[in-house]
Amino acid sequence: MAGYTQVWTPLDFEADGKQCDWLRLPFSTDLSGYGVVPIPVICIRNGDGPTALLIAGSHGDEYEGQVALARLSREIEAADVRGRIIILPSLNLPAVEAGRRVSPLDDGNLNRSFPGNPIGAPTTMIAHYVGTVLLPMADFVIDLHAGGRSTNYVPCALIRSGGSAEEKNKLIELATAFGAPVTSISDGSGGGGATTLSAVAQELGVPALTAELGGCATLSRTGTALAEQGLRRVLKLYGMLPEANTDTGPSTRLMRVRGRGAFVYAMRKGMFEPAADLGDVVQPGQVAGVIHVVDRPWDAPEPIVFSEGGMVACRRALALTAPGDCLYKLLVDLDAD
Ligand SMILES: [Zn+2]
Repeated sequence: MAGYTQVWTPLDFEADGKQCDWLRLPFSTDLSGYGVVPIPVICIRNGDGPTALLIAGSHGDEYEGQVALARLSREIEAADVRGRIIILPSLNLPAVEAGRRVSPLDDGNLNRSFPGNPIGAPTTMIAHYVGTVLLPMADFVIDLHAGGRSTNYVPCALIRSGGSAEEKNKLIELATAFGAPVTSISDGSGGGGATTLSAVAQELGVPALTAELGGCATLSRTGTALAEQGLRRVLKLYGMLPEANTDTGPSTRLMRVRGRGAFVYAMRKGMFEPAADLGDVVQPGQVAGVIHVVDRPWDAPEPIVFSEGGMVACRRALALTAPGDCLYKLLVDLDAD
C-alpha cells in the first residue's frame, strides 16, 4: 500500500510562493466523528532548485527545534529562496500539545514508528506519510530533537554511516555546515535501529541529519541558536538561501559510539545520584554515580561504574530511576581505538 495515505493537505507543494497550512490526519472520535488532527506545514518555494525537509516536534517534549523552525518559517519569504523549503515544526502535534515524547492518541513514539502504516494508529500514519510523500521530494532532511523529559544532551548532530562513500561525504558536508560542537557518526545499530526517520531516509538515499539540542523538557538558548544558525548555513550550502547572512560556523568534532558499553544502564530501582556531568571525559572503571534505595535508606547505595571511557554526551535528567533506564551515553573520537 505504498502509494496509499489517508493524510492530505490542500497545500500545493509544486506551487511557487509561501504557503502556511496543515496536514490533515484523520482521527475519528466520539466527539468528532469526521475529525482530523491538523499538523502545521509551511512550504516556501521559488522556482527550480533543491528541496529541504525540516522537521521538529517528532517528540513533543523537545523544544529548541520547534521554536527555531517556527521562527525560520516566519522570517523566510519566497523571494529569499531558490528551490523549496518544507517545514514541519510540530510533526507529532498531539505529543507536542501534551508536552510528551509519545502521542496521547496511541502512545506512539514517532521516531520509533517508521516506516509506518497507512491504515495504522495515528502516529504510524504520520511516519508513513513522511516516508512515502515528504522524503521522496527531499534532497536532504534535518530532524531536530533534544533529550526530552528524561534526558539532557550536549548539543550534537547525528548522522549514519553505512551508505555509499558519496552519501557519507554528503552527510559530513551537511554536518560540517550545520556546525554542532559534536557530530556523532553511527552505523545505525543503536537507538531506534530501522524504526527511525533517518533509517528510512538512508534507504531512500536522502541525506539525513538528526540534531540533539538540549533536554530536560526545557528550551536551551544555545541549542535554539545552533538550530537557527545551522539551518541557515545548510540552506546556504545548498544554494537555497543565497543572501543569508551566516558566519562560517564553528568546526564540528567527529565522534562515534564505540559499542554497547557506551550506554550505561540502571539495573535497580531508586534515586540516581550522578557523579559525572555533560561533556566530562571519563575513564573505564570510574564511578558514574550511585542509586539510593528509597525504602531502605540505611542500605549502602549501589555504585554504577563506566565500563568504557569517553565523553558524556547525554545523561539521565530524572532522579527517580527504574531497572532498564539509560543513565549515560558516551562518545569517543572517530579515530579512537
Ligand atoms: Zn527526540
